[in-house]
Amino acid sequence: MIVLEVAVPVPLNKIFYYLPPENINPANIVGKRVKVQFGKRILTAYVISYQNLTDKNTLKLKQIIEVIDKDSLITKETTELANYISKNYVCSLGEALASIIPAAMKSPKRIVKNKITDEEISYEKHVLNIHQVNAVNLIKENLQKNSFAGFLLHGVTASGKTEVYINSIEYALRQNRSAIMLIPEISLTVQFADIMTKRFGTNIGLWHSGISNIEKYILFLKMKNGNIKIIIGARSAIFSPFKNLGLIIIDEEHEQTYKQEQKPSYDAREIAKWRGRYNNAVVIFGSASPSLESYKDALEKKLTLVELNERIDKRKLPEIKVLTLKNRLFKSNLLLPETIELISKALSKREQIIVFLNRRGYSPTIMCRKCGNVYQCPKCSISMVFHKNPDLLKCHYCGEIKNFPPTCSVCKSKDIAVFGTGTQKVEDELIKLFKNAKIFRLDGDTASLKTNYEKAYKGMKNEEYNILLGTQMIAKGFDFPKASLVCVIDADTSLYLPNFKSVERTFQLITQVSGRSGRGDINGTVIVQTNHPQHYAIEYAKNHDFLSFYRTEIEQRKQLFYPPYCDIAKISIKNKNEKKAEEISEKLFSILIDLVEKYKLGLKLLGPATAYISKMNNIYRKHIIIKGCKENIIKLMELLENSKQLPGAFIGIEIMPSDLT
Ligand SMILES: [Zn+2]
Ligand SMILES: [Zn+2]
Repeated sequence: MIVLEVAVPVPLNKIFYYLPPENINPANIVGKRVKVQFGKRILTAYVISYQNLTDKNTLKLKQIIEVIDKDSLITKETTELANYISKNYVCSLGEALASIIPAAMKSPKRIVKNKITDEEISYEKHVLNIHQVNAVNLIKENLQKNSFAGFLLHGVTASGKTEVYINSIEYALRQNRSAIMLIPEISLTVQFADIMTKRFGTNIGLWHSGISNIEKYILFLKMKNGNIKIIIGARSAIFSPFKNLGLIIIDEEHEQTYKQEQKPSYDAREIAKWRGRYNNAVVIFGSASPSLESYKDALEKKLTLVELNERIDKRKLPEIKVLTLKNRLFKSNLLLPETIELISKALSKREQIIVFLNRRGYSPTIMCRKCGNVYQCPKCSISMVFHKNPDLLKCHYCGEIKNFPPTCSVCKSKDIAVFGTGTQKVEDELIKLFKNAKIFRLDGDTASLKTNYEKAYKGMKNEEYNILLGTQMIAKGFDFPKASLVCVIDADTSLYLPNFKSVERTFQLITQVSGRSGRGDINGTVIVQTNHPQHYAIEYAKNHDFLSFYRTEIEQRKQLFYPPYCDIAKISIKNKNEKKAEEISEKLFSILIDLVEKYKLGLKLLGPATAYISKMNNIYRKHIIIKGCKENIIKLMELLENSKQLPGAFIGIEIMPSDLT
């Protein structure tokens, strides 16, 4: 009896057998997505292969419900990559395939055949400086060799990394190969699409969460069939099914958005290296503030370091002024007098200003002045945030919304006040202080409208706005030549989070956001307001001194035994019952300790500890951290799975988490 081998996206690492529909040659279903009955659910699964089974058990097999795809989507590379992901990020083959080939991707009723556009590419040639020329030549040389090579392109902000990317892509296309370009933020796709379309015409696709499932399907086939050669996109664009892949670029490689938190917890940078090797392609990691991991790799010659130490056209790096916020914590406003003065000056010269605060909403703390009661989310162990227009309390973790309380729920006092500053409050203050300024706010509240990204970008480009205010989504990549002043309202929002990466992130954030100023003919100035002006992350960022920062921070990591000096995994235990969560985590911890000892795995276990946010959406959260080498961590996970001792609870495993809280 002919049976199909099917990978189903469930956390069971085995192949399932189904019968092909009658009258269909099983060979024609291989590599396609199908709908199958799995228990009580109907799931989208992937047909890997077929075989002839004589087993009696085949009698019990179910027939697949439906073949979804007309074309086969799984290639040999897909299967091997899925195996790699399944092994290295501890998930099933089906789960791995589901992230490479989105299950939700939908075939349109009929595919509109678009003419393959062979239109003349109208290059808008830019003259490269000597550093850019050297970088491009080195990359071209390696493209020519047709073998894997990895580069770390470390270029200060506005050093012209984008031109290096474009010239490299141009060369790859001339070799009749394709290119993937990853960018960290959806807000930047507009800008990059703009630049790239000018250079490469319609040979480009955009891949991100904002495009529909039908668009995704069409794009997927276009890539697979070679109808387009360049894809620009967020993390999952790393799986673009190009046959003749020549170049992978990861811009702002230090960004944590390249790491998927949910299962499979893959890292697009690692996938890039894997695909680079598989396809004999060149991989470029670019950043003004590289991750410690990549820079260490470069120093150890695992990546070739290419540096762009100067801004293009000999422009100066911005001057960074650090201002102390001391005792400002509960003051009514967060803009220091010097900050206000510099904004006025820039406005009077008709220059643009970028104001950055990594906290949305109006005020992050709502407190009763009489008894000190702080308003927490009823479902999460975290403060609710006050938002204006409409005036509501919102939980940023579970989305819970409440009305502003008329009286304190503890002491019935009416004296309830809001403290601290979010972007909405800064906006109010800016409007009050600078009556004629046109301000655009871009943060998690406004960005939900896809068009707002475009509005922000185009509005700033066309000088319709004087001030762009926002959270981290405005901190990177944007290129506005008229922006002369950048204000970091509170540099401390990330500095003291209980996470081994929080210092590195603060340095990167200041470097990135500073880089938004002085990109045109005007010299840039940056204001950094902080309570910790002496902190080395702020000092080194102020002096544009990446290397000293790297040396100090890498030493910390070494001493505290954190990546890149070890690999790490986080096991999360989640349960609705607090006591149960505790019991399970204790039990799991002792099972793990026993396994580590019995098999001499040499791993260090930390925990079980309560998560930084101990309750989220009414689920209690504990975790166990495992440190050591990745091979043994994976082995431990396999042993745990095989031991069948897993306590019955929702347990998540994240390999190399970027966040341990
Ligand atoms: Zn009270
Ligand atoms: Zn909540």
